[in-house]
Amino acid sequence: MEKLQDVKLYINGRFVDAHSGKTFENLNPFSNEVINRVAEGDKKDIYAAVEAADAAFKGEWGKMKVSERLKYIHRIADLIDEHIEEIAPLESLDTGLPISQTKNMVARSAQNFRFYAEMVSSRMVGEAYQVDGEFLNYTIHKPVGVAGLITPWNAPFMLETWKIAPALATGNTVVLKPGEWSPLTANRLAEIIDKAELPNGVFNVVHGFGESAGASLVAHPDVKLISFTGETTTGSEIIKNGADSLKRVSAELGGKSPIIVFEDADFERALDASTWGIFSFNGERCTANSRLFLHESIYDKFVSALKERISNIVIGDPLHKETEVGPLIHVDHFNNVKHYLEIAVQEGAEVFSGAVPEEFHKGNFIAPTLLLNVENHMRVAQEEIFGPVMTVMKFKTEEEVIELANDVKYGLAGYVWTNDIKRGHRVAQGIDSGMIWINSQNVRDLRIPFGGTKASGIGREGGHYAFDFYTEVQVIHVALTDHHIPQFGKKKN
Ligand code: NAD
Repeated sequence: MEKLQDVKLYINGRFVDAHSGKTFENLNPFSNEVINRVAEGDKKDIYAAVEAADAAFKGEWGKMKVSERLKYIHRIADLIDEHIEEIAPLESLDTGLPISQTKNMVARSAQNFRFYAEMVSSRMVGEAYQVDGEFLNYTIHKPVGVAGLITPWNAPFMLETWKIAPALATGNTVVLKPGEWSPLTANRLAEIIDKAELPNGVFNVVHGFGESAGASLVAHPDVKLISFTGETTTGSEIIKNGADSLKRVSAELGGKSPIIVFEDADFERALDASTWGIFSFNGERCTANSRLFLHESIYDKFVSALKERISNIVIGDPLHKETEVGPLIHVDHFNNVKHYLEIAVQEGAEVFSGAVPEEFHKGNFIAPTLLLNVENHMRVAQEEIFGPVMTVMKFKTEEEVIELANDVKYGLAGYVWTNDIKRGHRVAQGIDSGMIWINSQNVRDLRIPFGGTKASGIGREGGHYAFDFYTEVQVIHVALTDHHIPQFGKKKN
């Protein structure tokens, strides 16, 4: 790949340097060499972007007919589709995610725009009530204004478009603060949106760090809402910091999701799903099934099959199409995950890992790993490791496994494998999580809500649920008759 240009901010329809002139390094996780430098936006840049977004909202974009606006949204989708072959390698270069997986994600990102263009025209509907023949009450959805979107480094293009598509399609303007470790595709998206010729200021990207750029976006009084995806601790910090300006916040946070395999499950399919669910996206996936609960009667057989799979997983260059697991995003994150493997040993777990080929020693590689002999109270079973590491535990009864699965602070996703239909539903409903799959890996239709409970988040994204967040519902009460109005102060004859 040829040398990439440095990344600038995109504010008011122009690619610009940060006010301060500062930049930071963007590293390639496969080699730890510098890919390019990124403009380091801070409060001043955020303020400039919000001013532009606010002006666009009050101006052309805010006044545009919905049908016109949706043409832009379709145009963005078409342009993403046209550039999949170029966006996917950028994403893999920047994040270490294998190219076979980023290609699917980029295609899905185009779909996010198309989907919301269709949803706004067909499903953004209000309600109407006839009240005793005297009134008609009806509701309409209005855009909120400037939307602040703050995203993490894992699966950046997909998570960014997941928010941008509904925010823009419903008529808001956007300031995006992408994760600092994966800026390349956010920049590419700005180029695409620039090419789609949206009015200046409708979409802005300010790269930079969470404590400066991110925090300024959260505190800005003209930013009406913050959609955040990231760590649980950051989410609660953002909610606190947004309180002064009564910010509407949606928070998609961390996870430590259980996968439960009963003795009657389809063994091979459960094996496929549990392996894919933890090792795809290099394990850097919020909905990863990082806690495997196996019925005691299948434990030995399942673990030995898992070990065999792990030994055969293809670890390598994220840009090679055969690669199944690539390097972790950044050396700091690599060190975090490694530290958890040390903790696992200290806590008495047995660590079973694949091997990273010697030729890849420069990258942030952690081989797919199983933690065996784990007990649910251990840190490695309770804390989000966010790498290709799965804890494995044994259970005897349905009641016991539901209790174990729920005994964790997170509640994002869960997976149940059984051929007993009643048990499948019972266990699914017994688990405290936002989303559960029965006899399936994580496959999601865009019409269905996405989100977690407990420490995994507040609010739901996706489907028509996005309208609750990205729009204001206004009620209009219309009098149809000369109904009674109390007459204060009127003299009685
Ligand atoms: P992070 O919380 O460190 O950072 C996320 C974003 O928040 C970044 O853009 C960062 O710059 C910004 N940020 C940091 N501090 C901030 C502050 N004080 N004010 C405003 N912005 C701030 O998360 P990460 O390490 O980038 O991402 C990994 C985490 O994201 C994991 O916990 C993972 O589970 C979670 N995640 C959740 C979902 C979901 O949908 N539930 C999806 C993907 C990732």
